[in-house]
Parts: sequence; C-alpha cells; structure tokens
Amino acid sequence: MKDISLEILEKSDNVLKIRFKNVPLAIVNAIRRVILEEVPTMAVDYVIFRNNTSVLHDEIIAHRIGLIPLTSDEAVERYLPPEECSDEKSLNKPGCFTTLVLEAETGDDEIKTVYSGDLKPIDDPTVKPISDKIPIVVLGPNQRLVLEAKARLGRGKEHIKWSPVTIAVSTYVAKIIVDSKRCTTCGSCANYCPTGALSIKNSKLVVDESKCNLCRQCVRVCDYDAIDLSWYQDMYDLKIESTGALSVEKIITLAVKELIRKLDDFLQSLGQIEESGASTGG
Ligand code: SF4
Ligand code: SF4
Repeated sequence: MKDISLEILEKSDNVLKIRFKNVPLAIVNAIRRVILEEVPTMAVDYVIFRNNTSVLHDEIIAHRIGLIPLTSDEAVERYLPPEECSDEKSLNKPGCFTTLVLEAETGDDEIKTVYSGDLKPIDDPTVKPISDKIPIVVLGPNQRLVLEAKARLGRGKEHIKWSPVTIAVSTYVAKIIVDSKRCTTCGSCANYCPTGALSIKNSKLVVDESKCNLCRQCVRVCDYDAIDLSWYQDMYDLKIESTGALSVEKIITLAVKELIRKLDDFLQSLGQIEESGASTGG
C-alpha cells in the first residue's frame, strides 16, 4: 500500500483546503459528510418572546435568530451532546442550554435595525454571535422587541443551522498532458480556459494543474487533439469553509474523531452479532 500523505494547500481563519494522497475517495467523502452533518455547534433552538411589536411574526424572528452562527470552540467540549438535550424537557437540564437576551426599542420617529450584536449572552460569554452585523429585524417608530434565546449543541443532520461549514466539497485533482508533437501553441485553449490553468508564455503552452476545474473547454477547442485531460488516482482535494462557529482545525479534528467513533461502534456491533451467532450455534 502506498504511503498516505496530507498537504495543506490553503489555510485562513475560515478556509481550509487539504490534498489527500493515496486515500480512497470513500474516506475523503466520509470525512466531508461527517463535517456537514455530525460535527456539533451551538445554535439557538428555542426563543421565548416577552414582547414583539415589530412587523415580523415571532416565528420569522425565531427562525432568523436560529440561523445566526454562535461561537462554539469552547462550548463544544463543555455542553452535553445533542442527543441528551434535544427535547423541550431538557430546557432546564444543567449542561444543555445557555441563554442570550435581546432587548431593543425605538422612540417617536425613530427607525432602527436590530442586529445579532444586540443578542447578549447572560450566563456564558463564550457563546455569542460570530458577528455583530447580521440584521434580524428593522423596528419602526415606537416598536419593541424583547426575547430570550436558548442555545444548545446540535448537528447538521438535525438542522442545517448547526452545520459548522458553509461549504464542504471534495474534488478530483486534474492531470493534464499536452502532446508537444501535436501542439502548435496556437493559444486557443488558453483563451477559453476559465481559470487561467493554461497560458502561453514565451511561445510555450504553460500548464498549472492546480487551477484546473476539469471543465474540458480546452479539449473541446483544441483542433489538434493535443490535450489529454484526466485526474490522478487516489488524490483528492477537500475544501471547507467555516461559518465561524468553530475554527477549521477544530472542525477537521472533531470530524475525524467522530468518524473513528462511528467505526468503533460498527465494529462493536459486528462483534455482538458474531457472539450471538456463536451462542445460538449459528
Ligand atoms: S489549443 Fe491545442 S494546439 Fe493550441 S495551444 Fe492549446 S493544446 Fe496547443
Ligand atoms: S479543463 Fe477547463 S480549467 Fe482545466 S485546463 Fe482545460 S479549460 Fe482550463
């Protein structure tokens, strides 16, 4: 078996792109799906309205607040897992929920936008909106909005508001071979390439495979059949973009741990089936 290798191609506060070499696509895709659906974050699940005289119904405001990403880097280790907190009875269970409050009102002739920054944590300062600038509702003159929002850990498979990422995509890595005997360096492929993967420099066709998105435009426009376009075997790029609820390092680490836990559960279940088969003489 060839050696597995990982290479960080891109990293910023909210974006991570990793190249997996000699890793089957099924494994890369499993990590991608666990990131989307299983890595928990905090999000508002219940909203208790004390007063709402804005133009939006309670349900719409509650929905908008639920979709605001909340900082979860510390909370993900400290709060109880979603499975122990997902029903209404757990609202008062210690370790399940944290509360944020919002109180806003306008005077005569005043118009004001209520933003995520108006949501204030009252019992856990580590869980708060990732940005102060997400609009919730515009209050007209003499309107009032007072509410309590209850946030808990949840998973993307239950509702997308708990997913830690805005994108999680795995892609093939392009392999471009130009037949120098056929290529006339006419430049057509470079003109049609939408990503700049092909260019003519010093009368030569220059190829940058890392920019290729496998759209096949170059193959279509080359009249000399000079381009062989395919992709590398067992080499895939995984790109994730965090909502800001968790750091990208934490997302990938939690995803791999979650995948290992699932495989352990699977092995344990298989062991139990084998044991029960042996005890019944099957
Ligand atoms: S279109 Fe074909 S012949 Fe022209 S530069 Fe590209 S590969 Fe070469
Ligand atoms: S497949 Fe598309 S992106 Fe890739 S080199 Fe050809 S034209 Fe450019």
